[in-house]
Amino acid sequence: MEDRIEQLTRLFLKFPGIGARQAKRFAYFILSQEESYVKNLASTLTTARAQAHTCTLCYKIFEGDPGLCNICSDTNRDNKKIAVVEKSTDIDAFSKTDYNGLFFVLGGLIPIVQKNIVANTKANALVERVKKESQNKTEIILAFPLTPNGDHTDSVIRELLAPYQIEISSLGRGLSVGTELEYADPASLEASLKKRE
Ligand SMILES: [Zn+2]
Repeated sequence: MEDRIEQLTRLFLKFPGIGARQAKRFAYFILSQEESYVKNLASTLTTARAQAHTCTLCYKIFEGDPGLCNICSDTNRDNKKIAVVEKSTDIDAFSKTDYNGLFFVLGGLIPIVQKNIVANTKANALVERVKKESQNKTEIILAFPLTPNGDHTDSVIRELLAPYQIEISSLGRGLSVGTELEYADPASLEASLKKRE
């Protein structure tokens, strides 16, 4: 039977970018902490999760009342532009740039080898939104990482949005190849936003 350390390791293995050895280190770390720390961690996790919602328009995860996130409900933003990103944390990278438009969180990238191109992402919801709002939008900015799957996602989304009369751009060179958007430095992201193509 699986012991507690194995159970904990298995839970940590689900974290993004965490491998088996790191997951096991986390498990031992937890077990070496004071009980008060572990109790605080457990209750913070439970409360944070209970107060988290997915925005009904952009799919960003946020804390607050269910419905629209603070960005979608902000009437001072330029609602003619939508930047499409892979995940909620990528939006934080944009907060340090001059970009003042709206967002859409795709919820993942579309792997090159995937047969059903839109499975596991919100690509269909994006198409629906663009279809509905294309009259009062001027630009969709595709902001995916410069990785093979990021490039692939860019071309699949371009194809899906092609039937709608709207300008589609992608982040220009300026970010290093392989960089995850959430780790991009603000100056490079700003530069690639200005040079979008
Ligand atoms: Zn939103």
